[in-house]
Amino acid sequence: MPSRIHCLPQVLINQIAAGEVVERPASVIKELLENSLDAGATRIDIDVERGGVKLIRVRDNGGGIHQEDLPLAVASHATSKIVDSADLARVSTLGFRGEALSSIAAVSRLSLTSRTEHQTSGWRVLVDGGTVGREPGPAAHPLGTTVEVRELFFNLPARRKFLRSERTEYAHLDQIVRRIALSRFAVEINLRHNQRSALALPCAPDRQTQTRRLGEVCGGVFVDNAVFVEQQSGDLHLRGWLGLPSFSRSQTDLQYFFVNGRAVRDKLAHHAIRQAYQDVMYRDRHPAFVLFLQLDPAEVDVNAHPAKLEVRFHQSQQVHDFLLRAAQQTLARPALSALSTPVPAASTQSFSTPEYEEPVRTSNTPVTESLRFPTTSYRPQAVAPERQMSPPLREQQASYVQFDTSSPVPTDTDQPADNPPLGYALAQLQGVYILAENQHGLVLVDMHAAHERIVYERFKINLEQGDMPAQPLLVPVTLGLSPTEMRCLEEQGEELSALGLEVVPLGPETAAIRQLPVLLNGVDAAQLVRDLLADLQAHGRSTRLSENIHEVLATRACRSSVRANRKLSVAEMNALLRDMERTAYSSQCNHGRPTWIQLSLAELDKLFLRGR
Ligand code: ADP
Ligand code: MG
Repeated sequence: MPSRIHCLPQVLINQIAAGEVVERPASVIKELLENSLDAGATRIDIDVERGGVKLIRVRDNGGGIHQEDLPLAVASHATSKIVDSADLARVSTLGFRGEALSSIAAVSRLSLTSRTEHQTSGWRVLVDGGTVGREPGPAAHPLGTTVEVRELFFNLPARRKFLRSERTEYAHLDQIVRRIALSRFAVEINLRHNQRSALALPCAPDRQTQTRRLGEVCGGVFVDNAVFVEQQSGDLHLRGWLGLPSFSRSQTDLQYFFVNGRAVRDKLAHHAIRQAYQDVMYRDRHPAFVLFLQLDPAEVDVNAHPAKLEVRFHQSQQVHDFLLRAAQQTLARPALSALSTPVPAASTQSFSTPEYEEPVRTSNTPVTESLRFPTTSYRPQAVAPERQMSPPLREQQASYVQFDTSSPVPTDTDQPADNPPLGYALAQLQGVYILAENQHGLVLVDMHAAHERIVYERFKINLEQGDMPAQPLLVPVTLGLSPTEMRCLEEQGEELSALGLEVVPLGPETAAIRQLPVLLNGVDAAQLVRDLLADLQAHGRSTRLSENIHEVLATRACRSSVRANRKLSVAEMNALLRDMERTAYSSQCNHGRPTWIQLSLAELDKLFLRGR
């Protein structure tokens, strides 16, 4: 016989809600810290025992909770953060669901103590496995709130069994604390585990202290291998750090993205950033970044995920393009590290002087591709007389190699004529490296890698100018298409032909590929078109064709660039250096390896133990 329907008791409702919100100690700390931040705390002290399973205590100096509201704070669907659905459409706090404390309290022993500025003493409420204790009683407490969560899942053995070792749980929790610490530089955060200090992060109001915190959270190597980015376009503001392409990772473990101070994993944003790195990184490598996006809260829906880990942008295409452009512009600065050497993370010996560049402000500049050459990334410095470089070679002009493409590399920069960032060539080493002298000391260039990049960027300019040589197929390839694929083809056909791919409908369900870009000669054309149409249907746009073309370009660039062991004259070497300065992304070869490094005089002095 079917059982009858009945309403669930509140405690059970809360336990079910807890199943979504509270997975492990790390999720508890996330909710508690978010509450402290929403309360305007400027200092948060966290105490954790046994990985957070035995105890999590969060104490803040925020605004506190009114004595009479304490029972409500631990009740479900009770919040002070939104009132109506209009508020829900523009949430500016981290919390808004009013479910965290009641859920946590349903699966632990929780104590909530708080004092507002209008009260002379603090008050406390206790909840034991979802059962609220007697009326709140007085308790000594400074201004602010303390939440203690003991014995997580004590009443849910099934859930408790899923908890891992103390070490693992602590590692998850630590990760959350670090992530939140990154999102609020202005808040002091201290973390203790088993009575020992584990993390002490003082308030970080300026770039220097923020960089220090960044190092504490992401590691010093990231700091040494990252560039600062800050860009604005209309209501969108992006700030943060992008890892150099040479600092790529095998995992996505060093990717932090915050939207209005909330850490989120956003597919769209990650896609945009990935795409910005596409040209300078192997496909199976991942970039490192810490990025903060600010925008009008009304432009983003945060009510998309129970743990609030996902958001939806109303203008998703616009956000995507802004992120892509901002990252591309930053990465494309020709001498990305004119003053700080890009050093592969793996190298043990580092000659770099970590130093950030000032952000290049290019807000609202429409950019078709990443081919901007901001002169601001070079900071010409006064050169001491005895450091003056030998001038005789600088007048010499030469081209070091014949290109098989004739379009010129843009030359819209006016380099300081006497102080080019990469200096002047001195000699060539083993037909592989160029030794040059600039105002900071010695520059070493990997000739082949540098040239590869220059050729590749030239090819790309051709591509963008619509100069994509195409070739009619001797025998057109016919392929069967579904009605949706057909419609898609009709809509996008023109765009495809601009890239050299001509596909024409033959009948209601067949089409013929008549022409391919010359570069893609030999690819499985039918497969390519099918994949393209699938992309277009799924995302409304496809980067597959241009990715394919870029891939071919990169290989071609590699083949046609100066091979190692080719003797170059000094004039040819200087021409290569000047081309590098003019070329986007020239600090990395197509595979993300550095193309040049700087050895400053100070670093050379150090090598020779020469004190000055
Ligand atoms: P939400 O954060 O979604 O509102 P919670 O269950 O996390 O829901 O918290 C319920 C309410 O308790 C909050 O709306 C807030 O008013 C209050 N509260 C919780 N933690 C704190 C805190 N640390 N400081 C001040 N108020 C708090
Ligand atoms: Mg909350």
